[in-house]
This record gives sequence, C-alpha cells and structure tokens, in this order.
Amino acid sequence: MSDVIQLLPDHVANQIAAGEVVQRPASVIKELLENAIDAQATRIQVVIKDAGKTQIQIVDNGMGMSLTDARMSFERHATSKIKSAEDLFSLTTKGFRGEALASIAAIAQVELKTKDDESEVGTIIKIEGSEVTSQEACVTLQGTSISVKNLFYNIPARRNFLKSDAVETRHIIDEFQRVALAHPQIAFDLFHNGNELFQLPETNFRQRITNIFGGKTNEKLVPVTEETELVEISGFVGKPEFAKKSRGEQFFFVNNRFIKSPYLNHAVTAAFDGLLKEKSYPSYFLYLKVDPRSIDINIHPTKTEIKFDDEHALYAILRSAIKHSLGQFNVAPVLDFER
Ligand code: ADP
Ligand code: MG
Repeated sequence: MSDVIQLLPDHVANQIAAGEVVQRPASVIKELLENAIDAQATRIQVVIKDAGKTQIQIVDNGMGMSLTDARMSFERHATSKIKSAEDLFSLTTKGFRGEALASIAAIAQVELKTKDDESEVGTIIKIEGSEVTSQEACVTLQGTSISVKNLFYNIPARRNFLKSDAVETRHIIDEFQRVALAHPQIAFDLFHNGNELFQLPETNFRQRITNIFGGKTNEKLVPVTEETELVEISGFVGKPEFAKKSRGEQFFFVNNRFIKSPYLNHAVTAAFDGLLKEKSYPSYFLYLKVDPRSIDINIHPTKTEIKFDDEHALYAILRSAIKHSLGQFNVAPVLDFER
C-alpha cells in the first residue's frame, strides 16, 4: 500500500481548531475581550449587530501591534504571551494558546486595525477564510480594533446551529459581564444594534457589581476577605435572605479569570448551611488570588475550568471565610427560615 498520510493545509487545521474555540458569537467576544485586556487596555468597547451573528467589533486603547505582529497575530500558535513550556506553569495573561485570531479568521470575515506606540502609522488587515485579502497602512490611534463579520459564513451547519438572537445575545451578555466583573478598573461599553446595553466606568469591585446588577444589589452584599499562604480571597456573598431560585449571580474569579467550579460552589453553599431556604441559591462574587504555579488552566480550550494543586485546602479556607463573614455581619440570628 502507498503512503496516505498528509499534513492538513493551514486553513483546514485552523477551521478544525475553530470548532473548539468558537462555539458561538459569545466565544468570539470572550477571546477578543481577553486579548484587549492582555494588551493592557483601560477602555474597551464592544459593538454587536444581530446578536453578533452579522458583526462583532471590539475597540481597545491597549498597546496595539506593529505591522509585522499584526500579520503574525493570525498565524496558528503565534503568541506574544508565552515563549516556552515552562511559561505554561506561571501564566499571568488570559491568552497563551495563540489560537483565537487564527481560528476566528478561518470562519469569518475579519478586519484588524491596529497601531503600537512606536509606529507612525497603523495597519489595516483584511482576512477571510484564513486568506489575507489586503493589508494597508492607515491613520489611527494607538490600540486595536477588530471587526468580525458573518461568523461561520463558510460553515453553514454551524451557522444554522446558532440559536435565536435573544439567546445568543444572552450568551454575549454573560461573557461580557464575567469579563467586566473580573476587571472593574477597566471601562467597558456594550452596544447592540445601536442600543447601549452597558456603560461601565472604571471603578472598584463593589461598584462594578452594582453597576451591572442594579443599585439594590449593594445592600445585599456581605464582604468576604481572607488571606492565607495558599490563597487570598476577596469579594462578596449575597445575604441569605436574598438568595434566588436560580443560579444567576454566582461568580468565581481566579487570578481575574472567570471560572466554573462545582466543587468550590459546594464550599460556598456549605458555608450557608442552614441559612438558605430549600432550592434557593446564594449570590456570590468571589475573587481568589493564587500563585499561578499552583493552578493549571490548560485543561480546556475555553479556559473556564482550572485544576488547583490543593483543592481540598482551598475548599476548607473558602467555606470558613464565608461562614465567618456571614457570622460577623450578623446575618444568622435575624433569620428564621423553616429548614
Ligand atoms: P493569544 O491571546 O493566545 O496569544 P490570539 O490568537 O488571541 O492568541 O492573539 C495572538 C497575538 O496577537 C497575541 O499574543 C497578541 O500579541 C496579539 N494581539 C491580539 N489581540 C490584540 C490586541 N487587542 N491588542 C494587542 N495585541 C493583540
Ligand atoms: Mg487571545
């Protein structure tokens, strides 16, 4: 038998990778927001049309890119964020896989406009289905603007799989809120079809939470703080009497990254032991700072799951910190819920 194995062409490899990184418009928003944050932007604007299905644009005032980097940024496994495998164990940036822009450019029409502080002029690159169609100099401010049009235009099956505008917009808002909550010191705007959905000035954690969830949230928040060798915990839990019937407002951030953790969620619920009505869920906005070497983020392409070296200790510390806060704020005695 003759040899049959071939290396896939880049655009095919990119399209396959895109399947993992980009599920829906919200995934694009998440990746682009994270890039803007890694570029140290202090102001980030998100503009979407038709729930991101026809256009997503993200404008940041971060460090921008040189002409060469602008072109390189669309190559797969091209990243400025890590250099060696060791760096994987001490990540301080959101990105590191060098996959997002290559993936997005494989399945959409992308226009990147960028300028760094050293270049006189900026660069505009148009790329579609992994093919660069034009690259020109342009006049622009320092920072980066990326527009992503017609997501999945060349993968009809994926495009048809997208849900209604209402559902896709909900996903976008969820991602937007997670990133905005993790970075209160950055100003964020979100516009949909010309309407402003959020305008978030730079502020502190507490104010960011109330700017997103409404002024009334403020009085529901009980501060949580704890500092141990393993972890620094800050943030808030909602008073038990405001616990909800659904899991809406539950957020863990580890080193400023939103993560999902059923295990740590259990620790929070355990701390509320006896204070909650049946089938109600406490709100929480908890920020955990740990040594980047003590976690592994590289479990899944979307990076919402983390492996902690010492999960059990973390569980115990979190639970006792929250118990302590609830006690200190005299939450327990005023309650008389039937169990
Ligand atoms: P990663 O974020 O994992 O490095 P990406 O494909 O998302 O991979 O981006 C590739 C590279 O492009 C980044 O490492 C960064 O150098 C550059 N880049 C992407 N977005 C921006 C941005 N908004 N501002 C400045 N540089 C950016
Ligand atoms: Mg990235």
